[in-house]
Amino acid sequence: MGLQIFLDGKFVSEEEAKISVFDHGLLYGDGVFEGIRIYNRRVFMLDEHLERLYGGAKVIRLEIPLSPEELKEKVCETVRVNGLDDGYVRLVVTRGKGDLGLSPMKCSNPSVFIIASTIKIYPDEVYREGLKVFTVSTRRNNPDSLSPQIKSLNYLNHVLAHLEVLHAGADEGLMLNDQGYVTECVVDNFFIVEDGVVKTPPTNAGALAGITRKAVFMLAPTEGIEIKEENLSLVECYVSDECFLTGTAAEIAPITHIDERAIGDGRPGPITKKLMEAFHEFRESYGTPID
Ligand code: PMP
Repeated sequence: MGLQIFLDGKFVSEEEAKISVFDHGLLYGDGVFEGIRIYNRRVFMLDEHLERLYGGAKVIRLEIPLSPEELKEKVCETVRVNGLDDGYVRLVVTRGKGDLGLSPMKCSNPSVFIIASTIKIYPDEVYREGLKVFTVSTRRNNPDSLSPQIKSLNYLNHVLAHLEVLHAGADEGLMLNDQGYVTECVVDNFFIVEDGVVKTPPTNAGALAGITRKAVFMLAPTEGIEIKEENLSLVECYVSDECFLTGTAAEIAPITHIDERAIGDGRPGPITKKLMEAFHEFRESYGTPID
């Protein structure tokens, strides 16, 4: 049996899982989504993902037709139905079908779909050797234009940045904001370590309030590591002792080079490694059991 996708109240096959060409999620990128990991038959930090989803939906005045409790159960059911112990869930809420005009008021039925599948992760070597990151010229969306806090279906800002990363032959990109401060990577949050202190740009600098970022804020104090939000210039990053990124797909991954400058000795640093180890333990036990 192929993938079973939850779409607007029922499970359908991949072939049957279709959205209207009049859906404003497609026509205007009008909708919100989450990418969520499943570890060991638990949905990792599901409450936190749902909080971000409902928050983004509230900002764009999109009423999700299921309560958080109902949606939680549907996510778990989708994982169960697809027989997954570990994997990745894509949860999407679109504005729904409207006319060709922009108005969301013409869209009366938002669509909810959930895809649970396996995930292609970075090879082990990346976690041992680290990533090479390149600063892209595409600036992160100005929060006054489109808040990076809304995990919306409009990802063109990131697509443009990713094209630059591909062109540069790097592993990931670093995005700056309008003031020239570092915000985050293209689809991951960004951290440096300076004199034993972990630092990451504040969300109001243009970083998404990442769920894995949150996990790092939970884990660092228990590991005796100081962590804080701080605006970071690119120069500070070049001369930092360690760098790493975090994201649902990447987890915690070391960054060893930025714009061809070796960070520290050009090897994954000890604090990064300590947090990676702590995360490995945490991810197995934290989350919503699917059964
Ligand atoms: N920033 C952006 C722009 C992202 O798309 C993601 C991935 N969702 C992240 C950061 C990392 O967030 P999370 O840890 O919630 O996956």
